[in-house]
Amino acid sequence: MTQEPQDAETRRAAAPVICYPPETLPAPPLAAFEAALVTATRSDEIIIPPREARTFRVPAGSFFRIVSVEGPQVGDLNLWNADDLSERFYSGKTRALHGTHVTTGERLWSSFPHLRPMATIVRDDLGWYGIDADGGSVHDVIGTRCDPYTANVLSGAQYHHCCHSNLTRALADELGCTLRAAEPHVHDVLNVFMCTGFTRDTGQYFMKASPVRPGDALTFFAEIELLGALSACPGGDCGAEHSSDEAACFPLRVEVLIPAAQPEGWQPPARSGYDGTHGR
Ligand SMILES: [Zn+2]
Repeated sequence: MTQEPQDAETRRAAAPVICYPPETLPAPPLAAFEAALVTATRSDEIIIPPREARTFRVPAGSFFRIVSVEGPQVGDLNLWNADDLSERFYSGKTRALHGTHVTTGERLWSSFPHLRPMATIVRDDLGWYGIDADGGSVHDVIGTRCDPYTANVLSGAQYHHCCHSNLTRALADELGCTLRAAEPHVHDVLNVFMCTGFTRDTGQYFMKASPVRPGDALTFFAEIELLGALSACPGGDCGAEHSSDEAACFPLRVEVLIPAAQPEGWQPPARSGYDGTHGR
C-alpha cells in the first residue's frame, strides 16, 4: 500500500465532472420516430434458439425489436454497417457518451473513424427498472460477451456455445466465409435485458437475474443500413452462471418493422466530420 498524502481526503472530495453532458449530443427526433413506429408493419421475424445466434438485416429508416419469449433470457447484440463491416458498434464510446446502461433516447455509436449513431433506442419495456440498490441496471455496455477464451483460462473448459462463438458461427453463415474470417468482426456487445453493475466496495463486475418477462421488448430505430447478430446467452437470465449448459435458456425473437413513411425531419447521420489528418 502506498503512503497517502496529508491532503488525501481533500483530493478525494474533488467534484466529479460529467465527461459528456447529454445535452451536448445531437438530440434524436424521438417524437418523429414514435410517430413512424406506430405506422410500421412487420417485414421479418427471426427466432434465436437458446445458446445460438442468428443474423438479421434492417433497412436504414426502419425499426427492429428484440422480444423476450417463453422465459427470461439475455441477448448479446452485435451491429455492423451492412455495406462496410469495418464500421461496427463501439461499446466503449457508447458507454462514455451515455453511461453504463442504455435506454430510450440513447444511441448505439459506431467505431472510428465513422463515429455516428447506428441505432437509437425508441422504446424500452424495462425502462421502469432504473438503478437498483446494488447499483445494477439493465441493457449494459460494460460487459464484453461471454467467450470460450476466458472460460478456458478460468476452468480449462472447451465450451463452444458462449456468445462470442455463437456470434462467430452466425456471421460466418451469413457471409458464407470461414469461422476464422468471421471471428475478427465479432465485437463487444450491447447486453440486451442483462442486469449488471460494478460492486460499490470492490468495483467488480457483477450480474444478477434479469427482470425481463416474456413480452418485454427493446425497440431500435436503424439510423444506417444494418447487419445485426443476436446471441441467446448460455447464461439464460444470467442470475447464476454462464459459459456452460447449466442455466435455463429460452429463445429470443427479432422483429424488423418497416414504417409507412420515414420519420419526419430524419436524415441518415453523416460520418464524423473530423478530417482524419491527425496533425500531419
Ligand atoms: Zn453470453
